[in-house]
Amino acid sequence: MKLVPTNIGQKSFLFLGIVILFLNPFEKVVSHGTWDEQIQNKRAIKFPDTEYYKTLTLDPHTHSVFSDGHVWPSIRVAEAQRDGLDALAITEHLEYQPHRADILHPDRNRAFEEAKIAAMRSNLIVIHGSEITRDAPAGHINALFLEDSNKLLNVEEAPDDDRDVAGFYEEAKKWPAQEAVDAAHRQGAFMFWNHPYWTRQSPDGIARMNDFHRKNAEGGKLHGIEVANGDTYSEEAFAIALKYNLAVIGVSDVHNLIDWDYDATIGAHRPVTLVFSKNRSQEGIKEALFDRRTVVWFKNLLIGREKDLTPLLAASLNVSKFSYQNNTNVASVKITNRSDATFKLRYKGPLSFMGSDDRIDVPANTDITISVKTEKRLNALDLEFEVENALIGPGKYISYTLSANS
Ligand code: ZN
Repeated sequence: MKLVPTNIGQKSFLFLGIVILFLNPFEKVVSHGTWDEQIQNKRAIKFPDTEYYKTLTLDPHTHSVFSDGHVWPSIRVAEAQRDGLDALAITEHLEYQPHRADILHPDRNRAFEEAKIAAMRSNLIVIHGSEITRDAPAGHINALFLEDSNKLLNVEEAPDDDRDVAGFYEEAKKWPAQEAVDAAHRQGAFMFWNHPYWTRQSPDGIARMNDFHRKNAEGGKLHGIEVANGDTYSEEAFAIALKYNLAVIGVSDVHNLIDWDYDATIGAHRPVTLVFSKNRSQEGIKEALFDRRTVVWFKNLLIGREKDLTPLLAASLNVSKFSYQNNTNVASVKITNRSDATFKLRYKGPLSFMGSDDRIDVPANTDITISVKTEKRLNALDLEFEVENALIGPGKYISYTLSANS
């Protein structure tokens, strides 16, 4: 990105720099960063670490030209870097290969390898994954942390014509889904059920557990389920996650460009899975996923188990100042939000506020001060809220108490 107009010579630019430095000797002029950095800082998805874990952002379901995506893997990597993600998986359909006339793709590990090279000089963690693709009941399943994607595919008779995409897909789907799942399981893969409410496979848009997935969940071969995919959220999938002890997963499943699907200039972001990891590493993410330590960040919703959401709220939202306004029994309570979520709070206690009814918004990455009528002066104050953008079950909001001490 060239920012210097070509009609200004290097000398005058240097002079301008000296003048700026002279006028503002103590201001960190350079710390604002380049234009690219500013955009990235604005769009990066950020949640604080919790008391015991690092909060890592993961998009475990994306596509490139190596299946039905429309970009090269390096673009997926660049997008992930711009979004400030910690980890990314490019998970190609093993069986559905619409570009096979142009990209023959005999080695299904190539998207991962290309992404790995593109991410080499950055700290983005690239996870090796693939998408097992079948009709219902198996539907689509992502397998992460693979060693060799080729072992998840078995095509007895590929059509001679490379342009026969449908023919190839039909042949590839003949290999039983269970065999592909078993092959991934032998590699120690973390597996999750993709968009179980997809209207092409479930026309009423309702996710329902079936024998195929129940058996794998109970047999330790299915470990997660998408509750958010792209623009969609599924209460029924969330209920299945809780009932069958599956990790809640949120993904973009992006095929085009992230920027086309989510307008960062208005604060939109791709759905991601927040992973509570012992450290910032692939192994840490893997351990956390198998232990179901995740929360989904979808639009302005946080979706997860109470055990994971409570520490995230504690790290994100607290009282940073508590004092009484002059000669009154009205308390000023400053609430600080260190996260990308705009918290929608609804007060559940007996007190009332001066500036609002019982509903308070705490915008992302900022703080607000509320005035609370406490009748007499208190040394400590507990304000109990329901958080209406944090779900611990279908239609069930988490309760959270903000504690203030003078
Ligand atoms: Zn997909």
